[in-house]
Amino acid sequence: MTIASTDALPIVPGSRVTADGAEWALADTKAGMRLVVAVSRPAPSWLADLEGEASEYAGGTLLVGPIGPANAVVLRAHLPWLVPRPLGLRTSAGMGDRLGLATPGHVRAVRATGGTVAPIFAQQSIREMTRTGRTPQQVIDDATWGAFREGWQGEVGADADHLKTVADVDACVAAGFSLFTIDPSEHVDAGAEQASLQELWVRLAALPWRDLEDTPSAMTDRYAARTFDIDGHPIRFDQQMVLRAAVKYGRAVAHVSALCRHLTATSGSGRFEIEISVDETETPTSHAEHVWLAGELRRQGVRWVSLAPRYVGRFEKGVDYIGDVAAFEADCRVHAAIARLMGPYKLSLHSGSDKFSIYDAIARQARGLVHLKTAGTSYLEALRTLAVVDPALFRDIYTLARERYDVDRATYHVSADVSRTAPAGALADADLPRLLDQFDAREMLHVTFGSVLSTRAVDGSWLLRDRLFSALRAHLDAYAANLEAHFVRHLRPFAQAATVGPELGSARTPREEDCR
Ligand code: ZN
Repeated sequence: MTIASTDALPIVPGSRVTADGAEWALADTKAGMRLVVAVSRPAPSWLADLEGEASEYAGGTLLVGPIGPANAVVLRAHLPWLVPRPLGLRTSAGMGDRLGLATPGHVRAVRATGGTVAPIFAQQSIREMTRTGRTPQQVIDDATWGAFREGWQGEVGADADHLKTVADVDACVAAGFSLFTIDPSEHVDAGAEQASLQELWVRLAALPWRDLEDTPSAMTDRYAARTFDIDGHPIRFDQQMVLRAAVKYGRAVAHVSALCRHLTATSGSGRFEIEISVDETETPTSHAEHVWLAGELRRQGVRWVSLAPRYVGRFEKGVDYIGDVAAFEADCRVHAAIARLMGPYKLSLHSGSDKFSIYDAIARQARGLVHLKTAGTSYLEALRTLAVVDPALFRDIYTLARERYDVDRATYHVSADVSRTAPAGALADADLPRLLDQFDAREMLHVTFGSVLSTRAVDGSWLLRDRLFSALRAHLDAYAANLEAHFVRHLRPFAQAATVGPELGSARTPREEDCR
């Protein structure tokens, strides 16, 4: 049965799909987006699981319902390609979406670059969920509806990013995430870098050796005075290097291992995969530290699909890499070789938004074993869209961002200076979109999203949140077009590398993803 598109029920053409003997589609109605399902008689019993209004239709039944959580569950049950699953070692990209409206543009960019990069449309850290007022379930469901809207039928992953506690993990398991990014940064001892040898011995003794099922002497014997040949690049540990690595990352290993075991116990092995992220540390991860960390995590029985070291150079939010690109490539070459030898696992590039100058280098060195992670750049494309379709709203967002930046920047790596941005009143409407290309304005807008989405007026109503969402919902195609153009630039270098190393880049989960 085919659903006819009418003025009252304008079907989004790309969303039509037949599954389980029913036709499914989205309708872009005046009252908002609706799920439309048509079935012939007799109606299947599962139709009763859908929320909405059923009516007689061409000898069958037509149901029109909300795009809410209950209907998302039924949709995924009948269109199983929408269910997030582990992506294994495929070249992949995570496209964070703070507003929940970006998936259509992300889908278009993945398609436009040949579909060789495995996509993660649902990806958000707990920190960002808190700031945007979204739940893990909303993050998953928004991506489900967006992928459905575009008719995406490839595999999808879903990344619960920067998880720090058991409670974080549990909330994301319940919502159906498939990739769990464990961030042990609160357990990384940054002071190890400067500590004296004597101090290192003291801190070493204080590590949780029982949890690690290890002893200081057994651990040092595994590394001290040993040389690891990493693809022609020798990494020789002296005693001080071993102590420093152990003191810096020892508690992090115990923490990752505990969260991983908890995940296996609650989720079941084979249902999820793990990324380890140590990117949010003060100093770069040395190659020796990477070897030590990977070696010790493996010894603990942790298996992971990707790892994000802290690379050399500066990774500020929403702007290009700041540093020497050749130095980055040299650093990345060894990290990639370690990941091949000690896994293989993918190198993950966090804060990956807009790092155009290093994509070729990491894609080349990782030979396709790479995951790109972007978080805030889709929000900036939303603002670029608003700057054109609703300049008055954009001015209000920009003005709030200028007021809040100095406070909101605290937890982000940014260096923008408000004094280098023009006040909204000094700018003509035609100048507004260009603010998204100016370094200081861009970083300022990037880190103030929480204030934009959560600030209330004196009467308790949202100051900007409702206006922002309704303007974007009214211009979803303009937003998707901006996102597509922007993400094609992100994905193309990775899409090309994905076809270079088929023996590794296209390998399909050859390793177990579970923990002991
Ligand atoms: Zn990160």
